[in-house]
Amino acid sequence: MIVDLHNHTPLCNHAKGTLAEYIEAAITQETAYFGISDHAPMDFDPRYRMRFDQMQTYERHVKEAKEHYHDKIDILLGYEVDYLQGHMDSRVLKADVDYLIGSVHFLGLWGFDNPEFIDQYEKRDIDTVYRDYFASIQALANSGLFDVVGHLDLIKVFGYRSKTDVKLLAKDAIKAIKKADMVIELSAAGYRKPVKEAYPSDDLLTLIAEADIPITFASDAHHPKQVGFKTQELEDKAKSFGYHKCATFRSRTREMIKF
Ligand SMILES: [Zn+2]
Ligand SMILES: [Zn+2]
Repeated sequence: MIVDLHNHTPLCNHAKGTLAEYIEAAITQETAYFGISDHAPMDFDPRYRMRFDQMQTYERHVKEAKEHYHDKIDILLGYEVDYLQGHMDSRVLKADVDYLIGSVHFLGLWGFDNPEFIDQYEKRDIDTVYRDYFASIQALANSGLFDVVGHLDLIKVFGYRSKTDVKLLAKDAIKAIKKADMVIELSAAGYRKPVKEAYPSDDLLTLIAEADIPITFASDAHHPKQVGFKTQELEDKAKSFGYHKCATFRSRTREMIKF
């Protein structure tokens, strides 16, 4: 795909391969804008992310790669940041990067996308889980801290669906995203998970397209082999919803690229 803004590195402790391997995979895919957005450090859940004292190294390595590959591909620097009340850190939020992806991976202390804690889906009321999740996405948008919303409907990752129409549950969050002038990523990561479909769902994409919210594309690769996986599907899907341009960023400023 032409733009792919969400990719990880081994610094987060749960991705494989080297930065060069990710970038070379993207070059093979003929990606024009390739964004590295590894999990930002946080004083919570430190196992699955880089440490604060690794930020400098991370940023330097990506900037060096940008130089090294500049005649083949445009490398962008970002972070994927957890929207989690009380745990967001100004060192990350003020980092000198091209963009920040805001993601919700926790409801309270529950890491709901971690297979270790999947039993909670049976213990809780599923509509309440969905309501809490989208309330958190709405707060993420209202915070004004981020450029892109990561995997908008990640809460479906294990295939647990709300009883209430998800469009009703997500509509206020989508309104807030529009008001905040943020971008929503079309992510291939869901194809690799039990839910076996893209984030967001076609139902939500209908609302997103109606609201004319800009989109971008995301492999969310945690292995070089995942770079560009199902990219053609994502671009075709976006076109079928009336999109012809997608977003990329330079120093927190959005640019729209035809795809
Ligand atoms: Zn990850
Ligand atoms: Zn994520």
